[in-house]
Amino acid sequence: MEGDSGAPLTPEEAKLIENDYHLFEKYLPQEHRLAIQEQGFSMIDDDNDLVTPLVNNKQCVYSFFDDEDILKCSIEKVFFEGLTQFRKPISCHLFPIRITEYKQFDAVNYEELEICKPGRKCGQTKQVKLYQYLKEPLIRKYGEEWYKELEIADQYLKNKNKNF
Ligand code: SF4
Repeated sequence: MEGDSGAPLTPEEAKLIENDYHLFEKYLPQEHRLAIQEQGFSMIDDDNDLVTPLVNNKQCVYSFFDDEDILKCSIEKVFFEGLTQFRKPISCHLFPIRITEYKQFDAVNYEELEICKPGRKCGQTKQVKLYQYLKEPLIRKYGEEWYKELEIADQYLKNKNKNF
């Protein structure tokens, strides 16, 4: 619900959303459908990025409240129903990790937000690091090999810290 722009999209993802719209449209409130009619399935924001449109400059047009008043993603809902292979945009899947692509490398940063406080507490209690929790989207983005190297790097740092 927070933020001044929608979720970043790749051009391929924007097409997938358009193709799958007929599958998840039924979950969206009328206001969201109208916003899609007005703004399109994707749009360019003030930073010149391709993003999902917003409703009233607030929540993503593809979000909806379920029967328990929990805000969910309609794209992901039909993925869990087995109706599509596309789960949701990778930027959403990786949240709260944000990726900035430079010419020679990607900056993979954690965006610390107040709304994620309960998640941080849960991770501390269960001793699960963020990169472990986000294993699936990190592999989706960078592949198995990359993820294995990340695990090795983490283990290396753990051993190094033990020895000092
Ligand atoms: S997860 Fe779905 S509803 Fe949430 S920002 Fe991404 S596309 Fe929109």
